[in-house]
Amino acid sequence: MDKESIAVIEQLIENSDKILVFAHKRPDGDAVGSVIALSLFLENAGKKVTSLLPDTPPPEYDFLKGIDGIVNKAKGEFDLYISLDEADLSRTYNIPENIPKEKLINIDHHKSNTYFGGVNIVLPSYSSTCEILIEIIVERGDTDIYNALYTGMLTDTGGFKFANTSVRTLKHAIELIEKGVNHAYISQMVFMRMTRGKIKLLSLALETLDFYGDKAIMTISLDMLKKTGTTMKDTESITGYTLITRGIELGILFREESKTRTRVSFRSKGKYDVDLIARGFGGGGHKEAAGCTIDENLHTTMKMIKEKVIDL
Ligand code: 5GP
Ligand code: MN
Repeated sequence: MDKESIAVIEQLIENSDKILVFAHKRPDGDAVGSVIALSLFLENAGKKVTSLLPDTPPPEYDFLKGIDGIVNKAKGEFDLYISLDEADLSRTYNIPENIPKEKLINIDHHKSNTYFGGVNIVLPSYSSTCEILIEIIVERGDTDIYNALYTGMLTDTGGFKFANTSVRTLKHAIELIEKGVNHAYISQMVFMRMTRGKIKLLSLALETLDFYGDKAIMTISLDMLKKTGTTMKDTESITGYTLITRGIELGILFREESKTRTRVSFRSKGKYDVDLIARGFGGGGHKEAAGCTIDENLHTTMKMIKEKVIDL
């Protein structure tokens, strides 16, 4: 990230007192980590910060200090608004209406970003929004901030396994570990604390796996959530299991949100650009992880997506 962009952001922050920091709905580790890290950083600098995630974060992030201070709705006026990890403002809700563009900073790594801010730091070559923030915060954080940043990088790279893990990503991870981040502890907190209900849900979901050439399809129905005493929040990290089979290049997870709405997640090992596929259905994301929401029931959505995707 260039020094001029950092200077522009710092000037805007310096001239502001009341700041709203927010990220996207159904927050993942990068959304949670980036909101916490930047909020704590701004609070340390003496700012009055409101941190917002419109939906409750998944339970795996409950160990992060600062998570309890996040609200799910904000009204009124702020001196500065900072959007994190959002390709477009429609990816969030419960934020004040009519945010003046000149007061809006957009920091993100989605290539589909719509440059909706007055200042736009959009860097698709970065693994995560947290990786971008590291370059702004570097020497001025504390352990809580570094833990949050590490968590965002860890989760958006699937534990440093996805192709978005660059040499720079790993160097940033090392930097954070050198500053005291306990990487093994964070991995355990994030990846090794499934509830028994979630394990049962995963097992039911694995049973639904269907293979079509180099593509795999998995389903989670409302009935399965009910049977296992789980909620939609427990489903977020299950998507990756669509890709773990040998020879599978594209994984699709269908989640029944209601009788009239289905969430579709796409994952790729690199052969298919799932951002492009998801955009075809009104969604988006990254080359290797993307999603969309279809206002149809599970059955119709599956039929519709299969027709377009299975023969690719
Ligand atoms: P997931 O499948 O985990 O919900 O999302 C994977 C990635 O795709 C995330 O980076 C997320 O931000 C992006 N994504 C998911 N759904 C949508 C959508 O409806 N629109 C856009 N633009 N991006 C999405
Ligand atoms: Mn992200």
